Amino acid sequence: MTASTDLQPQAPVAPEIAISGAMRVVIALFIAIPLIAVAVAVPVAWGGFLGWSDIALFIGFWTLTALGITMGYHRFFTHASFKAPRAVKIILASAGSMAMQGSITQWVADHRKHHKFSDEIQDPHSPWRFGTSRRAIAKGLYFAHMGWLLDEPQSSVAVYAPDIAADKDLSRINRAFPFFVALTMVLPAVLGGLLTWSWMGVLTGFFWGTLVRIAFVHHVTWSINSICHVFGTRPFKTRDQASNVAWLAIPSFGESWHNLHHTDPTAARHGVLKGQIDISAFLIRCLERLGLATDVKWPKPMRLAAKLKDPAMAPRIRGYAAALAAATPAAVPAPSPVA
Ligand SMILES: [Zn+2]
Ligand SMILES: [Zn+2]
Repeated sequence: MTASTDLQPQAPVAPEIAISGAMRVVIALFIAIPLIAVAVAVPVAWGGFLGWSDIALFIGFWTLTALGITMGYHRFFTHASFKAPRAVKIILASAGSMAMQGSITQWVADHRKHHKFSDEIQDPHSPWRFGTSRRAIAKGLYFAHMGWLLDEPQSSVAVYAPDIAADKDLSRINRAFPFFVALTMVLPAVLGGLLTWSWMGVLTGFFWGTLVRIAFVHHVTWSINSICHVFGTRPFKTRDQASNVAWLAIPSFGESWHNLHHTDPTAARHGVLKGQIDISAFLIRCLERLGLATDVKWPKPMRLAAKLKDPAMAPRIRGYAAALAAATPAAVPAPSPVA
């Protein structure tokens, strides 16, 4: 039995582990080839097997279901980053269910367990599960990306998500998961038919709005579990390997600022450094302005600065200058001379 394949608890892995160049190429191809295939298919299919209604259905259902995961399942339900009225709660839970990533209680339970044991052996989807050799990381990346969904026993809802299970609305949505699966599969096809008033519209709506969109949203979410625990930068101190991956920031709606997320899991914003785009945080801010999100846990710049590996990076934290000015006591005015 070798250390690289043994399923024994591993000590937390040092962040300095190097990934070989060849390994990076293999992973990049693994991720890029399906996307390139879709990109190549677009001009070939244009006007026949792809039209504006299909693009609209893809973007519409991608946005709805991915935000259901990022704002809903993840930031609202798993980490309680903000509070929201009942209607918002129901919409977020329904949209998340339509991403077909599992029912709400199971998703929350798995993700809370991931944070509790991040990159240790009990983590349901750590890419470091099999060790740190090149072969073990390749196996681990596949496992973290999607293998865990097939192999790993489900995390206990009673232990990790009792609050979600106890909520009447959420347990109803949880039981209705098969309905949301049917809805997310059928709705793009129906809308495609209605928008083009043709059977071809039904077919292409189903292909782009259902199949391609679900695959895309799945792979982006799974990439947070695989790529964002191996590659990328780690400006903040964490006890695990969570990393920031800039090129995933837009498709993941801000979830790929994953190093910060493991530093400060309840924060409603993950992209905390200047220039780090976080669309989910922007939309939570919009909800807050509309009075539809309250008690939002916005990250505290001074607290984040203390968690930076390189303190000189502190001015790059959003709102740091203002927080620093507020924290520095104003100069006490000299007593005026007695006349
Ligand atoms: Zn993680
Ligand atoms: Zn999380």
